[in-house]
Amino acid sequence: MHLEAGAADQSFREEVRDFLNEHLSPELRQAGQRTMGICSPHAASQAWQKILYAKGWAAPSWPKEHGGTGWTPMQRHIFATECYLADAPMLAPMGLEMVAPAIMGHGSEAQKAYYLPRVLSAEDSWCQGYSEPGSGSDLASLQCRADRDGDDYIINGSKIWTTDAHYATRIFCLVRTSSEGKPQAGIFFILIDMDSPGIKVEPIITMAGNHEVNQVFFDDVRVPQENRVGAENEGWTVAKYLLEFERGGRAWGARLQGAMAHLRHLAEARDMVNGTFAQRLAGLAAAVQAVEYTEQRVIAEMSQTGRIGPASSMLKTCAGTLVQEIREVAVEVIGNYAAPYQPAAREWGSNIEPIGSPDELTVVAHYLDFRARSIAGGSNEVQRNIMAKLVLGM
Ligand SMILES: Cc1cc2nc3c(=O)[nH]c(=O)nc-3n(C[C@H](O)[C@H](O)[C@H](O)COP(=O)(O)OP(=O)(O)OC[C@H]3O[C@@H](n4cnc5c(N)ncnc54)[C@H](O)[C@@H]3O)c2cc1C
Repeated sequence: MHLEAGAADQSFREEVRDFLNEHLSPELRQAGQRTMGICSPHAASQAWQKILYAKGWAAPSWPKEHGGTGWTPMQRHIFATECYLADAPMLAPMGLEMVAPAIMGHGSEAQKAYYLPRVLSAEDSWCQGYSEPGSGSDLASLQCRADRDGDDYIINGSKIWTTDAHYATRIFCLVRTSSEGKPQAGIFFILIDMDSPGIKVEPIITMAGNHEVNQVFFDDVRVPQENRVGAENEGWTVAKYLLEFERGGRAWGARLQGAMAHLRHLAEARDMVNGTFAQRLAGLAAAVQAVEYTEQRVIAEMSQTGRIGPASSMLKTCAGTLVQEIREVAVEVIGNYAAPYQPAAREWGSNIEPIGSPDELTVVAHYLDFRARSIAGGSNEVQRNIMAKLVLGM
């Protein structure tokens, strides 16, 4: 594994920078800056994915046969970092980085042929239906029912915290056919059209003031059996496989670099980069580098095994905690300018004059939003349990 970029990587970096300079309009960059949750404003994210798709760069982590770039791990890291530093909109991960690997790993040939191109081109957008009002960490206790009826299943129940369900055209769900035996045994993984009759989406507004998550209700929703991925009792295997990609495959190092660059910019604007504060920044920068190295190691292992494995839990916990710390320091840096509450001004495309500089507008929302990352994608406590068992063998 080589962690230093060589001459070829430097020229690749230049190529990426040129592409970003040419294709990232000020509006798209603003959408990147105003990303308050997991994804950038939906329309911007879709528009940017289409531009990347036209270039063949929409899915760097996919195998080439399905439309991936064939880049080395270092090239992928460079691309992700440059995108963050240039404020490119963040692409929604639920399609490209979650359901797509699950379909590649466990789907039928017909499912691969139908769904993967639509994920890649942004024709479909996806949401994830795992959590339920009574089942999060203990996901195997989920109750959403699927009953056979001819060639279909009839789905009844509810999913919660469903990111982007209000935009998604499809949802991948874990549902239960049987309550007999081990709780994991009666579960399967299914792909559902969001415009199916009987689906209702209700918004949940986060403490950052954003509409990102939802509750989704299924009332006698009819879904063809051919939409099931894997066998009826295989849902737990597919679900765990997908979670590795959700937790590990998120270009954490690049995201941290982006957050650090923003923090440094805020501090420099106030002439604060000196004395003990400079030491604090240096400490954060060293921690960012440690996460980047860990990520590179995980990616290098993955290119050999094809799986991210339980190290994804380590990456998610360390990186998520570090982003929270960086966002918290940013709030300290802007001081009194953390006080104004202007949710309408920080909407993408808003022309409301911000109180303070536009760079400060999103600082508190970023901080509040990132509190949720200790829970989203599986709580830190649960990740530590996974690390203890599967990484440390305790
Ligand atoms: C912003 C956001 C977006 C999300 N998006 C989605 C989505 O798109 N799709 C989806 O399906 N889900 C989504 N989730 C749900 C997320 O996966 C769950 O919230 C998470 O798994 C925790 O489940 P819970 O909320 O039921 O909390 P609980 O499981 O009730 O946990 C409550 C607390 O108990 C602790 N705890 C629970 N069990 C243990 C244990 N065994 N050992 C130690 N501590 C434990 C937890 O760490 C936590 O602190 C999202 C959540 C958030 C916050």
